[in-house]
Amino acid sequence: MNSEFQAHQIRDIIKINYKYTMGGQSKFFLELMNNKKILGAKCTKCGKVWMPPRINCSDCFVPADWSEVKQTGIIEVSTIVWFTTSAFIENIPYAIAYVKLDGADTALLQGIFSENLVPSKIKKGKRVNAVFQKEREGKMTDFFFVPEDEYLNWINKPEFEGGE
Ligand SMILES: [Zn+2]
Repeated sequence: MNSEFQAHQIRDIIKINYKYTMGGQSKFFLELMNNKKILGAKCTKCGKVWMPPRINCSDCFVPADWSEVKQTGIIEVSTIVWFTTSAFIENIPYAIAYVKLDGADTALLQGIFSENLVPSKIKKGKRVNAVFQKEREGKMTDFFFVPEDEYLNWINKPEFEGGE
């Protein structure tokens, strides 16, 4: 090859359509999408309720059964989000928190939205309620939490609704 070699380049696009599976966690997402239920997993040996659900108890290494938890819970730890992905950029600032739902023994990391987001609204010990998208896709973004005292305002917005 001589020194006058020049690579010819063409700009192109690769488009990929694909599916992925939620595997053994599928029931959680299907119940969320179809019935607005939040399912944890209860250990068949020790009775610990895992949220998010697990196929097997991580303490006992035995299978866990599906177990519905409440749509209310308590904030264990939280932070306010200012830098995020394109999917959530229109929501900033919003909060994320580990929420221990009533009936669960472990906490779920999920978004907290507030009409007036200030740190005192999302501090440890504050109670929250789940609010569901009316158009659900079987994804974690099908629901989020709001401060207990804002719940009625949120479920009255046209795009959202409360649980059963
Ligand atoms: Zn167990």
